[in-house]
Amino acid sequence: MTAAAASVLLVEDELPIRRFLRPAIDAAGWRLIEADTGQRGMLEASQVRPDVIILDLGLPDIDGIEVVRRMREWSAVPIIILSARGQENDKIAALDAGADDYVQKPFGVAELIARIRVALRHAAARVQPSADMTIVAGDIAIDLVRRTVTRSGASVHLTPLEYKLLTTLARNAGLVMTHRQLLREVWGAGHAEDSTYLRMFVRQLRQKLEDNPTQPKHLITEVGVGYRLVVER
Ligand code: CA
Repeated sequence: MTAAAASVLLVEDELPIRRFLRPAIDAAGWRLIEADTGQRGMLEASQVRPDVIILDLGLPDIDGIEVVRRMREWSAVPIIILSARGQENDKIAALDAGADDYVQKPFGVAELIARIRVALRHAAARVQPSADMTIVAGDIAIDLVRRTVTRSGASVHLTPLEYKLLTTLARNAGLVMTHRQLLREVWGAGHAEDSTYLRMFVRQLRQKLEDNPTQPKHLITEVGVGYRLVVER
């Protein structure tokens, strides 16, 4: 591979965290750009055009949620937010505003590196979708062209809404989707608060797709936030 190294923009005011992440990002072979304020981060993002942004929510100048909102006016770059305990509402607001994933402080560096890989892969797939348009999550295969789902090769019958929910998660495979995002995309804007619907359909999907629906391996609950379809384990 001779492709240029992916670039990671880290927007974080705490120097110890930037220091902590430098060697890991370097070891992953990515180029690191650092910014210690939201303003600086947006400026760097517009100039460097990074492949992924790691964004702390608690910045000294602008709210991280506002940074996400402004960034989304002109960029689709994957944004992974760093949130601290006590910032649950901000975290969800940032995800609803268009951030793609989150890591909760204190986090392990391996966890963040894995999240960055998923985000980079997701961005690459958006540019160049797989030729056969099939999404595979363990023993589950979703054929987007034929609109069929199989589990260990056996056909699984899904209702249209179950299929829509599954493909919405699958298009964002590996990334978290909030309750609100899922409700809006699957049921429409008028249902953004009906999380009971969502829980019911997730339960149905797990019954059909998971070996043990009470201990799901693919359709994972992100407590208080939403759901994530895990493709690799
Ligand atoms: Ca901070």
